[in-house]
Amino acid sequence: MKERIIIFDTTLRDGEQSPGASMNAAEKMRLATQLEKLGVDVMEAGFPAASKGDFDAVSNIAQKLKKTEVAALARTSKGDIEKAWGAIQHAVKPRIHTFIATSDIHMQYKLNMSRDKVVNTAVEALKYAKSLTDNIEFSAEDASRSDRDFLCKVFEAAIEAGATTINIPDTVGYAIPGEFADLVKYVIDHTPNIHKAVVSVHCHNDLGLATANTLAALNSGARQAEVTINGIGERAGNTSLEEVVMSFHTRPNYLPMTTNINTELIYPTSRLVSSITGIIVQPNKAIVGANAFAHEAGIHQDGVLKNPMTYEIMKPETVGLSASKLVLGKHSGRHALRNHLKEMGYDLSDEELQIVFTKFKELADKKKHIVDEDLEVIVTEGILRTADIFRLEYLHVISGTTVFPMASVKLAINERSVQGAGYGNGPIDAAFNSIAKLTGTESELLRFSVTALTGGTDAQGEVTVRLGEKGLIALGRGADPDIITASAKAYVNGLNRLEYLKANPVMATT
Ligand SMILES: [Zn+2]
Repeated sequence: MKERIIIFDTTLRDGEQSPGASMNAAEKMRLATQLEKLGVDVMEAGFPAASKGDFDAVSNIAQKLKKTEVAALARTSKGDIEKAWGAIQHAVKPRIHTFIATSDIHMQYKLNMSRDKVVNTAVEALKYAKSLTDNIEFSAEDASRSDRDFLCKVFEAAIEAGATTINIPDTVGYAIPGEFADLVKYVIDHTPNIHKAVVSVHCHNDLGLATANTLAALNSGARQAEVTINGIGERAGNTSLEEVVMSFHTRPNYLPMTTNINTELIYPTSRLVSSITGIIVQPNKAIVGANAFAHEAGIHQDGVLKNPMTYEIMKPETVGLSASKLVLGKHSGRHALRNHLKEMGYDLSDEELQIVFTKFKELADKKKHIVDEDLEVIVTEGILRTADIFRLEYLHVISGTTVFPMASVKLAINERSVQGAGYGNGPIDAAFNSIAKLTGTESELLRFSVTALTGGTDAQGEVTVRLGEKGLIALGRGADPDIITASAKAYVNGLNRLEYLKANPVMATT
């Protein structure tokens, strides 16, 4: 008999705490619908008290999703809990998630509270939450560095006050698997009313042990795993959903656990998260990295050709990794496009479909085969980013061996057109200088990288930029068959994200 594990996805909340990963409301909504399709049980949609933007994003998601439980994070204050509830109250199944730190170091230096005061604050907050809903999660921030007996005392009081899930976070990624398994077992054995709550774990990857710690905890009796797609999250990130789920899938004898995840949607979801956040997946990332199923050594290739199981413990198809297939071409009509987008998870209005169709035709003139990745980019750039402040309207670049590189640019700034020109030491530099002059940005370009979106020489170039301004970091992404245009799009996207971040700061939490 397999144990059913609750998958609590926090890509939209903890994932958004990855430097530069802030997403606008439309991007979050797109990701939320994909996560529902993937089959996560609970989705932490955000931290409504952090900003108006986050409140609205959580509220829209809560109203749109049809079956997934929607959680909102709140500190243990009445104001935060009120906002969290305000944002999720119309969800099919709302969950308030509140937290307070329980380690001595956090209580002394961050909260400036005694142990008793922490317990009382948590209890008061939970009682208030309980007046709003029966579905409440309580997290003891920095649990892995907390005194074990105090932790049990806090959890006992929390359950008594109404918590139905108690979460044990390894907030700073400090735990070691054997030790963490032992902690979970200790909590289960020493919290008298623990049977009234689901035990959850939330691990960070600072030592590269997030997945190992999560699996160890589940073996000790935890029944909820808090995860993110691609393992994105604060600092070194969170436990990655795909690693946990595929561990169950690949090692059922050792891990007799099951989830509601449709594994074939893992890879498309990973691509989407990367495309929306701008955070590139490292090539050697387990399950979803570009090299995860690539076999370089000749002896491996020979074995794999004769029988894939010689070196492959998982089938690429199981995680939805099949060769990019031709989906549409130049002669595909609007109807075929709408149907295909629907299959990909996009339910577009007629107006949106028209925008995508026009861009699709433009791309089909330059590129013979249009694959899912291309469509994903068209929708991301054409629909999800419409609330942008800056929009690239026109770019003309002159460069070559005997000319001084020059770019002329037309931008829409809050829908008002402005134009200008600039020089640079290359065409991209010239384009960036012109855009910087027009927008008056004070940001600094910290990183720039170009990759190909798919295989083939006619593939779209995909550019990622990292911009920094007064301690804020924003990633920008752009794709186009022309890499100079892709670069300009990425830069403009980065500037938009920076503006969004200034208006909607991401708050660091558990
Ligand atoms: Zn976290």
